Amino acid sequence: MYIPVVLKDGCEELVHKEVFHSLMTAQQVLLFKRSGSWAIVGKDPVRDLLKSFLFTIPDRRVRVGINMSCKQLEKCPFFDKYKKDLAPPDYQLIIESYCKGALMDKCARLVYEKTKGEKPPNDMMPSGAFINT
Ligand code: SF4
Repeated sequence: MYIPVVLKDGCEELVHKEVFHSLMTAQQVLLFKRSGSWAIVGKDPVRDLLKSFLFTIPDRRVRVGINMSCKQLEKCPFFDKYKKDLAPPDYQLIIESYCKGALMDKCARLVYEKTKGEKPPNDMMPSGAFINT
């Protein structure tokens, strides 16, 4: 059994169940795919999975950002332009992982603005890829 995961460093991997167990124990997993949908570590579906692996979520949870939002979320040009084109699950995943999640600091749009001192192109996704290329 292989499980798609997104690690805290932003890397996407397909890992064996035992490796997944190790990554979870090491608190390296941010998101993982189960039954065709993504689960965010720190939310209820993960607890159920963890129980099935006979270990529990540590008290110090991953900074999923449940109570945090990017300051640009309400006026982000990327969403102004593309929200209507994104499938709802994709939109939700981006919001939960980047705009309100642990990958917020890795959002390529924020990194671009911070390092270049100017706004990124509207077509730049939080991953850094361009939506029309
Ligand atoms: S895409 Fe990046 S800049 Fe835009 S709201 Fe989300 S985290 Fe902020």
